Amino acid sequence: MTMPPCIFCDIIRGETPASVVYADEQSIAFMDIQPVVTGHLLVIPRAHAASLADLDPDMGAHLFQVGMKLAAALRRSTLRCAGINFFLADGVEAGQDVFHVHLHILPRFQGDNFGFRFPPSYWDLPSRDTLDALAAQVRAAL
Ligand code: AMP
Ligand code: ZN
Repeated sequence: MTMPPCIFCDIIRGETPASVVYADEQSIAFMDIQPVVTGHLLVIPRAHAASLADLDPDMGAHLFQVGMKLAAALRRSTLRCAGINFFLADGVEAGQDVFHVHLHILPRFQGDNFGFRFPPSYWDLPSRDTLDALAAQVRAAL
C-alpha cells in the first residue's frame, strides 16, 4: 500500500530539513517552521500515524512524556517562557493541517499576543443536568 506524501515522514528520513531539539528511538521534536510564538516546538512519532485513532496508546503516552521534558527545558532555557500550552489537532475541523500526529508545545508569556477564541455560548454555563447527560453520552462510547 502506498502512503500519501507526508512532510513529517520526510523530516524523519532526513529528506526535509528540521531544527531538531530532541530525538529518541520512537520520536523526534523540532522547531515549528511557522511558530505561533517564539520557541514553538512539535513532537512527532517516528512511525507514521495520520490521526489519534491510528496512534499506539503507548506512543501517545511517550509523546506526552517528551512534551513534558521539552516544557521543562523551555522553562529552563533563555527563551521567554513563563507558561506552556500543549495543543494537538486531530482532524481537519480541529485545525489539523499535517496528517502525521504531532503535539504542539507552546511557550507562553505575558504579551505574546497568542490566545484562544471562545464562542459566545461560553458565557452561558450549562446546567448540571446537561453536563450529566453529556457525560452519559461519552461514557456510553467508552
Ligand atoms: P496542525 O495545524 O496542528 O496540523 O500543525 C501543523 C504544524 O506543522 C504547523 O504549525 C506548521 O507550521 C508546522 N509545519 C509544517 N511543515 C513544517 C516543516 N517542514 N517543519 C516544521 N514545521 C512544519
Ligand atoms: Zn508521516
